[in-house]
Amino acid sequence: MMASASASAAKHWSRAVAEDLISKRGGDAVFTCASGITPSVSVHVGNLRDVLTVWFVGQQLQRIGVKVRLLHSWDDFDRFRKVPLGIPESYKEFIGRPVSRVPDPEGKHASFAARFATEFEESIRDLGIDVTFKSQTPMYESSAYGPAILEAIQKRGLIFDIINSFRTQPLTEAQRSNYKPIEIYCRNCLRDGTSVQILDENQGLVRYECPACHTTEDISVLTAGNVKLLWKVDWPMRWRHEGVVFEPGGKDHATAGGSYLVASEIRRRVIGYEPPVFQPYEFIGLRGLAGKMSSSAGILVTPRDALRVYQPAVLVWLFAKAPPMRAFDLPLDQQLAQVYDEFDKAAAAAQANPSNNEAESIALSGVTGLEPAPVPFKTIGSLVALLDGNPAAVRAALTKLGFAADAPGVDDRIRKAGYWLDKYLPDQRIRLLESPNVEVISRLSEEEKMWVGKLTEWIRSRPLITETEAQEVFQIPITADDSPEARKLSQRRFFKSVYQLLFGRDNGPRLPTFIAAISSDRYLFLLDAVAPAAGKA
Ligand SMILES: [Zn+2]
Repeated sequence: MMASASASAAKHWSRAVAEDLISKRGGDAVFTCASGITPSVSVHVGNLRDVLTVWFVGQQLQRIGVKVRLLHSWDDFDRFRKVPLGIPESYKEFIGRPVSRVPDPEGKHASFAARFATEFEESIRDLGIDVTFKSQTPMYESSAYGPAILEAIQKRGLIFDIINSFRTQPLTEAQRSNYKPIEIYCRNCLRDGTSVQILDENQGLVRYECPACHTTEDISVLTAGNVKLLWKVDWPMRWRHEGVVFEPGGKDHATAGGSYLVASEIRRRVIGYEPPVFQPYEFIGLRGLAGKMSSSAGILVTPRDALRVYQPAVLVWLFAKAPPMRAFDLPLDQQLAQVYDEFDKAAAAAQANPSNNEAESIALSGVTGLEPAPVPFKTIGSLVALLDGNPAAVRAALTKLGFAADAPGVDDRIRKAGYWLDKYLPDQRIRLLESPNVEVISRLSEEEKMWVGKLTEWIRSRPLITETEAQEVFQIPITADDSPEARKLSQRRFFKSVYQLLFGRDNGPRLPTFIAAISSDRYLFLLDAVAPAAGKA
């Protein structure tokens, strides 16, 4: 008991899922693992969990030696349900059409669905994830599912009974005889909501009537191409069509009466096979959207947005290390620099010990081989904040601090830090004042002026200062007789004065780092301005 518990704790969650899958589906020649999203709005970064869960488990299956097929379905034959924020109100007229038959508001893509699907696919590629994307519209329109739709019509009584058995308030006999597991899009105005009458159940002949434009048509569900199965029937039908053995989904699908349980029962009793293994997952939140952004409803961060501040491996790693049922928030605030630090540490540890659980998460993130130790994102971030994002100045400062400024990934981190500060932490942008802060100078005490004088003298006496040497500045405002409390107070007062003189604010970058990184001719004049005032006083 103890042994198995600790063994499973040491195993990466994706490995455990893969092994469980093999024990259940060992006989299958190819393991098709599927994910799916309706592209009716920009895809949220949290939706990455759908594709990435498939990707991680797929990687593990391949390592074990199983052939896999990773499939991402674009459910773009689903109806357009509501106009998302940021899209013209006039789009109301398209409600009820398949999302693949709603135009792209910018006219760049073939459809509304194609726009969001393309955006997401580009990010998936940038993340180094290789899955096959499959649009459902051509599948339905070419009648590839025709025989399955006919079968569903013929077995509609059984399907109704299964759905009904999950309801807390059962439906009536009249509803049973009237039940059809399909929706037909009007051929003329493309909208759903048509009324359907079955003419010949054996041959799948039906008549539909559109309440919007009054089109009436007799069609065969085998060949018409405008007939869609309802979701809880559509899902198990596609499990069979693609031979899906594994599919993740939001945890709400797996609740009692949720669509996975209903679809599974339909898969067993109507189509006659075991449903895929389902992996529920928790949802992903966001952390640190600045005031206005967090309060405006419908704020959406896409994978592309996340990739503007996260390197691909770091983003994938965040998902890899969290088991699917662990909820987490994706940080966009200061915490983001912390994530980079943890990633760098984990990547270094994985080189030393490549066989443990944490190294597995690094391997799944796509980091391979021996890579040079990257420059901490925190350091880059504070220099970018200080140097207005000027890459050459940041690289020069990094070199002064003893980092390999030309190491791979440094430029990428400089770019990402710049975007991060602008977008999520605009208050962190710190600029050196352009002229001496006379107002603060007039308020400094004689003691504070003396400390600033000592500081400039100390900086002038050394042409090159390392970060370690610069620690000496902590000694400037203290004397041997001071109590620890008095030292702390003096230091606080000293730093505050310096920050006010340099930046016009009470806080700023770590002073030793600043002194070591930034060429003194950029700022000494701001401190020197204190001396003449002291002379006059
Ligand atoms: Zn119509």
